[in-house]
Amino acid sequence: MNTEIHCDVAVVGSGPAGLSAATALRQAGVNRVLVFEREPEAGGIPRHCAHPPYGVREYGRLMTGPRYAQRNVAAAEAAGVDIRTRHTVVALHPGGALDLATPDGMLRVVAKRVLLTTGARETPRSARLISGDRPVGVINTATLQSALYLEHFKPFEAPLIVGTELVSLSAVMSCRRAGIRPVAVVEPNPRPTARWPLTLFPRLCGIPLHLNTELAAIYGRERVEGVQLAGPDGARSTIACDGVLLTGRFTSESSLARLAPHLSVDAGSSGPVVDQYGRCSDPAYYAAGNVLRPIETAGWSWREGRAIAGCIAADLACDLPAASEVIPIHVQSPLKYCVPQRLVPSTHSGLAELQLRVVEPVRGTLMVSDGLRPLWRASGAFLPERRIRVPLGDPAFLSATALDIGFESSP
Ligand SMILES: Cc1cc2nc3c(=O)[nH]c(=O)nc-3n(C[C@H](O)[C@H](O)[C@H](O)COP(=O)(O)OP(=O)(O)OC[C@H]3O[C@@H](n4cnc5c(N)ncnc54)[C@H](O)[C@@H]3O)c2cc1C
Repeated sequence: MNTEIHCDVAVVGSGPAGLSAATALRQAGVNRVLVFEREPEAGGIPRHCAHPPYGVREYGRLMTGPRYAQRNVAAAEAAGVDIRTRHTVVALHPGGALDLATPDGMLRVVAKRVLLTTGARETPRSARLISGDRPVGVINTATLQSALYLEHFKPFEAPLIVGTELVSLSAVMSCRRAGIRPVAVVEPNPRPTARWPLTLFPRLCGIPLHLNTELAAIYGRERVEGVQLAGPDGARSTIACDGVLLTGRFTSESSLARLAPHLSVDAGSSGPVVDQYGRCSDPAYYAAGNVLRPIETAGWSWREGRAIAGCIAADLACDLPAASEVIPIHVQSPLKYCVPQRLVPSTHSGLAELQLRVVEPVRGTLMVSDGLRPLWRASGAFLPERRIRVPLGDPAFLSATALDIGFESSP
């Protein structure tokens, strides 16, 4: 290792969560705050998401992604944050030591605290088990936007869009702006994932939406030439297209934590296990933003970054309760995850709520219990990729030895 530098807080990733946290840490009087970003420019995903809505609650105005990213960078720099781009963190060691690959060679950073804000990514083709050929032109939304707005080239003219999460609308908007004409949107489930009326958007743009339809195979020698679809009754049909845009099915960008035996990773959220302060299983490490769970909006991640920065500042001032005793939170199927995964029995403020998601639609009563008695209940319809929030204000949560969360009636 060539060089070693020391700091109070090292932030890994310069998206909305990382930059808002770094800014808040400086504003809270933390001295040396460094942000490390692997890309040539800071700002995270919004840098290449050239449409609104960004920034309404944070800055009181509707912005495009690049403008919002610039605003976050400017705020961090004005607060005295040291942002280092082209710095890729490659290993996390116990106690806050990091290895980085930089244009000047390897770097060791020793931080009193480390904040992981590495975001989330869409599932690529390799993890989706789609059969057929392996031609060029099968990409995710973030890659499309990066090609259009950062590299200024169109990867295709008439792609098939797969998926109807909120991000698929971002894909449709990006295609429209670039003059790309998607041939169809397909969704394997009987209903679109994003909320009505947003799901009307592709149809309003003249793009057919096929529900109950799977992408069965991709064809093409060099470039994509067509796809085979499996419809509701299993019937196969072929559509000509020159690309496939695989949207959504996000997973946390937690590979650094997965390679670090001192950090526990939650199978449900795919992110690091944290308490209500965003503190990981190694107490020198914290996490915020979409690395905690796929996926929330930029504004949510930005606010979460600030909240967790407040906890880190308190920790550095020896004012945060230790994680020596924790209340584990267990979720039952069809719940997918709960973030945080555990609570420290303390009323010191941190994240204000538990964040939950289901893997399939459920109509019923969601209940939090201490194993003996119900502590909290909510009835209704719960849909995949929609927020489920449980407020953390009830002191009974903190006197439990463990919390169980599940549905009273089955789906
Ligand atoms: C296509 C798309 C469209 C979207 N549209 C909207 C929208 O219109 N409005 C909205 O509110 N939200 C939108 N979102 C969601 C929003 O972009 C995210 O919620 C937000 O960017 C999350 O912020 P973050 O800080 O958690 O992570 P990110 O913005 O993902 O930032 C993570 C950063 O960490 C860096 N990084 C990762 N690993 C390392 C490493 N090892 N070393 C150094 N750096 C690393 C990455 O390069 C990246 O810059 C969209 C998301 C996508 C994918």
